[in-house]
Amino acid sequence: MAKPLFGRLALIGTGLIGSSIARAARAQRLVGNIAATARSAATRRRVIELGLADQVADSNAAAVEGADLVIACMPVGQCAEVAREIAPHLKRGAILSDVGSVKAQVARDMAPHVPAGVHFVPAHPVAGTEYSGPDAGFAELFIGRWCILTPREDADAAAVELLSAFWSGMGAKVATMSAEHHDLVLAITSHVPHLIAYSIVGTADDLAAVTRSEVLQYSAGGFRDFTRIAASDPTMWRDIFLANKTGVLEMLGRFNQDVGKLARAIEAGDGDTLFDLFARTRAIRRGIIEIGQDSPAPDFGRPHPSLPPTPIPRPYASGDE
Ligand code: NAP
Repeated sequence: MAKPLFGRLALIGTGLIGSSIARAARAQRLVGNIAATARSAATRRRVIELGLADQVADSNAAAVEGADLVIACMPVGQCAEVAREIAPHLKRGAILSDVGSVKAQVARDMAPHVPAGVHFVPAHPVAGTEYSGPDAGFAELFIGRWCILTPREDADAAAVELLSAFWSGMGAKVATMSAEHHDLVLAITSHVPHLIAYSIVGTADDLAAVTRSEVLQYSAGGFRDFTRIAASDPTMWRDIFLANKTGVLEMLGRFNQDVGKLARAIEAGDGDTLFDLFARTRAIRRGIIEIGQDSPAPDFGRPHPSLPPTPIPRPYASGDE
């Protein structure tokens, strides 16, 4: 059997992402043993009940003792405090990484605390769900998803390679880019869409004083998909918007301009502008399916209680479809 990539893995935070790493790293035998911790005693207890780690430590400092790879898996607003807390306890030669959805601010918060001889390699697995906590994780979460590493140019190449092998071992595709570029890309692909979802569901909720039953009853349209995104963890997303202020405000500015153009097209009865945009966006959706980043199944693949689990026969489909 191949030797694990790391002797000891320490996870600071064992929610959706931390517990998925624990499950995947163990399933793929990427680490010898796992130490984990969380902020509350209740979560630490649950981690023990689920058997996610070989050792559950009471403090972040205790969790990282002797670890070869330490991954910070808590909301990004906690990064400075956690880095300060664990720095004196990190093993020389260890790799310190994270999974934060924002990279430039996290690097600013953590890097100053990293002691000499410890390799700091920030990372962001672009994979998740709207659920939180240790029960929400699963070993397959990262399969086929991207994990973006944002090491500084002077980062230790061997450490970057080893962390890359760790994420590949859990099934992820690995990319490397600067923290600033990451934050701009993620602002448009993830952060602004979440902001729009939070905003539109909030607006509908305000309207619901008049139309509450209609909003819930007819939520089978686009609104329902917004509610899924808007159910994401409030602490995590508050921290993301505060930490990626520059990227989010830049992309939000562009979005506002484009929404303004659409509003003017509707007002002017300019159907061509609307049709051209919708045709372009439909092609983008097809592209996402083609590169395997989402399922082509209707309704995002969710089963419906009143439909049979097997595919519905399609008499009109051509033979080779
Ligand atoms: P989560 O399910 O809410 O879990 C967060 C974990 O961090 C909990 O175990 C929490 O402990 C712990 N924690 C909070 N503050 C801590 C502290 N000061 N010291 C030690 N542990 C602490 O969150 P998540 O979804 O896994 O997200 C974690 C990170 O992954 C975030 O930085 C997020 O940006 C990033 N990320 C999330 C997703 C996603 O879709 N969810 C995707 C990619 C990256 P308690 O339960 O005791 O509070």
